[in-house]
Amino acid sequence: MRVAVIGCGAMGAATGWRLATRGARVVCFDRHSPPHALGSSHGESRITRTAYFEGAWYVPLLQETFPLWRELERISGERLLTMTGALMIGPPSSEVITGALATITAHGLDARLLDASELRHRYPAHVAGSEDVAVLDVQAGFIRPEAALAAMIDRLVALGGEIRRGAVVKEVNGRPDAVEIVTDAGSETFDAAVIAAGPWMGDLCPLPLTVERQVLAWFQIEKDVDFLTPDTFPVFLHHTELGDMYGFPTLDGASVKIARHHDGEPTHPDVVLRDVSDADLEPLREFAGSYLHGVTGNVTRAAVCMYTNTPDRHFVIDLLPDDSRIVVISACSGHGFKFAPVIGDIAADLVHDGRTARDISRFSAARFAGAAG
Ligand SMILES: Cc1cc2nc3c(=O)[nH]c(=O)nc-3n(C[C@H](O)[C@H](O)[C@H](O)COP(=O)(O)OP(=O)(O)OC[C@H]3O[C@@H](n4cnc5c(N)ncnc54)[C@H](O)[C@@H]3O)c2cc1C
Repeated sequence: MRVAVIGCGAMGAATGWRLATRGARVVCFDRHSPPHALGSSHGESRITRTAYFEGAWYVPLLQETFPLWRELERISGERLLTMTGALMIGPPSSEVITGALATITAHGLDARLLDASELRHRYPAHVAGSEDVAVLDVQAGFIRPEAALAAMIDRLVALGGEIRRGAVVKEVNGRPDAVEIVTDAGSETFDAAVIAAGPWMGDLCPLPLTVERQVLAWFQIEKDVDFLTPDTFPVFLHHTELGDMYGFPTLDGASVKIARHHDGEPTHPDVVLRDVSDADLEPLREFAGSYLHGVTGNVTRAAVCMYTNTPDRHFVIDLLPDDSRIVVISACSGHGFKFAPVIGDIAADLVHDGRTARDISRFSAARFAGAAG
């Protein structure tokens, strides 16, 4: 079976890897040269966690991802996943807390609820209001996105797959006998196609998606601080009046990465402002100053990334309603990276069998019927 994958970011590369593992002949088209920093799959680290406040139904999929990341580590010899635990911090009524607790109860997950004084005592980097609580999710940590993407691409190529770099796919057409992929270089036919174009998804699929500009910044840490390392400082998401802020332990011993989840400007990847301004950094600097000990206001590095959001912020993983040879994945609404290997495996199921044993009913394209644009 010959399959075209459009886009070789986290989702396309994972799909290519999982399809090639099943013996498909995969050609992965990318407009840039992956791994690159122009889409959504770059920036040193990505959170993974299990006490998912976004919905308990994500848990079975999440639990499948951990062994798949470990499998990729074994194949590549690279360290991709570091377990640190995750802290969700906020008022007891905030969604990050209520949602995480509901998921923990539904699945009996390994987690603890800390009050503000326990939080400060165990994790001296965090500043929390006296009414705040924290959920410590044990099965959580971070993934290194550039290394993970490189490992998936290497595996895909080792299994006979091909990456076409600098190839912009203009059209994906379902013909009676084949799926036609049109690029500037001409057209080519395949048995099936998977569209995983990240923030460019809206150019190829009639889905009601919005793209959001997101800024990441690395803040220098104070000298001699020993409580920001991966073994002492879990990845975190803190619901504050500045927004939902998240961050990582130091990976270089000199800085920590901090960002805000959502609240970015709407954009399109062809015109997105790729420079980071002082105004972009202001809320992050304010968060570092007000909510973290041991972190200075000096920014050592910054980057721009994009979220591709659906109206309900859940994913799209589906066959196109009018052509069951074309699979659409991604639109991950800023929380997809951790799922890449399992989303890739589901895409491989859909290509091979037209169905999957996993429950993806919440991710149907049809839920937006009538809202295309
Ligand atoms: C700042 C930031 C922080 C995040 N943090 C987390 C996190 O902590 N945890 C988590 O789980 N998720 C996180 N995410 C989300 C996650 O990173 C994304 O969901 C995921 O990387 C999306 O991968 P993708 O393959 O869909 O998109 P991309 O990585 O953007 O890949 C799409 C690819 O398609 C190519 N392409 C597009 N159009 C065409 C075309 N017409 N022809 C050929 N090629 C094309 C592009 O060049 C690109 O390589 C974060 C995202 C951002 C931006």
